[in-house]
Amino acid sequence: MCPDMPVAKPPILDALIIGAGFAGICMGKRLLDEGIDNFRIFDKAPKVGGTWYWNSYPGAACDVMSHFYCYSFEPNPDWSRKYSPWNEIQAYSERCVDNYGLRSHVDQSSAVERSEFDDDSGFWEVTFSDGSKQQARHVIDGSGGLHVPLIPEIEGADCFAGERWHSSQWRHEVDLAGKKIAVIGSAASAVQIVPEIARVAAQVNLFQRTANYIIPRHDRAYTALEKWCFRYLPLYNKLYRLFLFLRYDWLAYPIVKTSNMNFQRRYAMGQFRKLLRKSVPDSQLRDNLTPDYPIGCKRVLISDNFLASLTRENVSLVTAGIERIVPHGVRTVDGAEHEADVIVYATGFDTQGHHIDQRVVGPKGLTLSEAWSNAPIAYEGCMVAGFPNYHFVTGPNTGVGSTSVIFMIEQAANMIINSIRAAGSNGLIAPKNEAMQAYDREIQGALAHTVWATSCSSWYKRDDGHITILYPYNAQTFRRRHKKLRAEHFEISQRKR
Ligand code: NAP
Repeated sequence: MCPDMPVAKPPILDALIIGAGFAGICMGKRLLDEGIDNFRIFDKAPKVGGTWYWNSYPGAACDVMSHFYCYSFEPNPDWSRKYSPWNEIQAYSERCVDNYGLRSHVDQSSAVERSEFDDDSGFWEVTFSDGSKQQARHVIDGSGGLHVPLIPEIEGADCFAGERWHSSQWRHEVDLAGKKIAVIGSAASAVQIVPEIARVAAQVNLFQRTANYIIPRHDRAYTALEKWCFRYLPLYNKLYRLFLFLRYDWLAYPIVKTSNMNFQRRYAMGQFRKLLRKSVPDSQLRDNLTPDYPIGCKRVLISDNFLASLTRENVSLVTAGIERIVPHGVRTVDGAEHEADVIVYATGFDTQGHHIDQRVVGPKGLTLSEAWSNAPIAYEGCMVAGFPNYHFVTGPNTGVGSTSVIFMIEQAANMIINSIRAAGSNGLIAPKNEAMQAYDREIQGALAHTVWATSCSSWYKRDDGHITILYPYNAQTFRRRHKKLRAEHFEISQRKR
């Protein structure tokens, strides 16, 4: 292009969606349902699917039951198992994008760098990593919390002679057969990875810093008859989904609601102890795998084969802390050197910083990181006072440990659509600061009584104990509160031009 040629600005969008995972796809569908088709979905990945595109590690599968881990408006009779593998979930996302006519709205490999509110025009201007820009009336952040890999800085890592990668950036081209593998981290991703790679590896050393509660998954393939029922008996499908919804709300939610020993907590503890006894005959290993904090404080993991895989001859649980990485392995603080050809970091994601990473600059130059200097707060998890027309699908304190995130996404979408509707074509909508602060006080008050506030560290909370990720109530409450917009909690102004 000639240097002095003016660059034509793309037309202003009604909405710009960040992320083409479950949240972005849901928002795209809901905008189309509203008759809004002047929107685009941008995603840094070359394909849709969000976290399911990235997390393709061996054994990757959902730990929420599939018939509840899908949109209520798009049941899938073809789920092969109770807990589907990642590739079925990825295929489901792709299918939704095609079925809803969203493909032409999606821009892949487009990473959002910055979103800035233009005080003069009242539009958001979004800048991408290639320097291009796009204006929009509304920005909808559907980027989710599990997409920025967290790789701990361990001394010596740069001098490691083998290959190393994060669980969400799996190097499928590296053949693990006969290799010695160090897996750092022992939580949700690791419990799926270890049993799979142990089948082919010469040795797997799992470096566990904190033990986790693990209960059985009871996974199995659906029978042909069940699949027939899911396909041809819509009522059966609906009732099954309702059963799963209630099961999560009535059985899983009470585990985190309190740290007192209610029936559900006792039941889960019993399940953990039974599975541990059955899977691990060695009492020392059992001790090492027994957490010292209340159940539910960290995410309760579900696996039928992880604990048993630790008893294989070629698998060792290492509980001594990591001192450093050496060229041919990992040295622990007890002086032992654990040889490794490959290091897998199953160390989770930057769940605290990911919203701010996208650098959101609101009216009068106020950045979201400044507005959130104490803690990230959003009214009902969806909008921030002072940041008009900027929406979050899975914003602060919308995470759940006890139901399907897809369910939560659909409810948040209701609130976002309602606020876009309320703003009208020329309006700027934002929650009132008093309403947002009151909401946050209520949420933090309720969180203080959950098991998450007890003695453990987790990605649910910051180092100072402030819980920024999770929602303290059950899924039914989330649905009720996101159904209607409480107009008195919002302020709407009109764009100057
Ligand atoms: P995670 O839950 O954050 O766990 C990270 C693990 O790495 C923990 O065991 C942690 O130990 C350890 N770790 C972190 N830094 C370390 C260090 N410097 N040295 C040693 N160990 C270190 O991450 P994740 O397992 O990837 O799971 C993240 C979330 O993704 C899950 O909670 C879940 O919501 C989601 N997920 C879902 C599925 C599914 O649906 N199938 C599967 C995988 C993940 P500490 O406990 O001591 O901090």
